[in-house]
Amino acid sequence: MNIALIAHDKKKDDMVRFVMAYEEILKNHTLFGTGTTGQKIMESTNLKVHRFQSGPLGGDQEIGAMIANNRMDVVLFFRDPLTAQPHEPDVSALIRLCDVYLVPLATNMGTAEVIIKGLERGDLSWREIIAKRNGEVNE
Ligand code: PGA
Repeated sequence: MNIALIAHDKKKDDMVRFVMAYEEILKNHTLFGTGTTGQKIMESTNLKVHRFQSGPLGGDQEIGAMIANNRMDVVLFFRDPLTAQPHEPDVSALIRLCDVYLVPLATNMGTAEVIIKGLERGDLSWREIIAKRNGEVNE
C-alpha cells in the first residue's frame, strides 16, 4: 500500500516514535511524506520515505494530488490542533480529499495505531464495499 506520513512540528517526535514502533509493518509498504517529516523518519529508522515539499510549501497539496489520482491508500496525519498553521487551507483540503476518495485517514496516533493494526490483519473489505456500491463487482 502507499502510505502518506505527515506531522505538524509539535507532533513530529510522536510520529517518529510511532513509525519506529511499527517499522516492521511499515517496511512492507511504500511510504511518502512531507519534507521534514520524511527526513526525520529516515534519520531515525531504516525506512525509505519518498519526500514531497514541506507542508507549508505545498507538500500537503502534492499528497492531495496523489489521492485525487487514486494513488494513495492510507494517510497518517498527526496534526496539531492547538497551533495555527499558515497552510490551514491545505490541511483542510487534504482531509477533505481523503473523504472524497474514501482514503483511511488518521489525524492522531490512536487512530493511526488502529489503521496500522488493520493493515497487518489484511482482511479489510471497505474497497470491496465501495466497488459493489459503484457497480464494479457483480454480486
Ligand atoms: P513538514 O510538513 O513535514 O515538511 O514539516 C508538515 C506540515 O507541517 O504540514
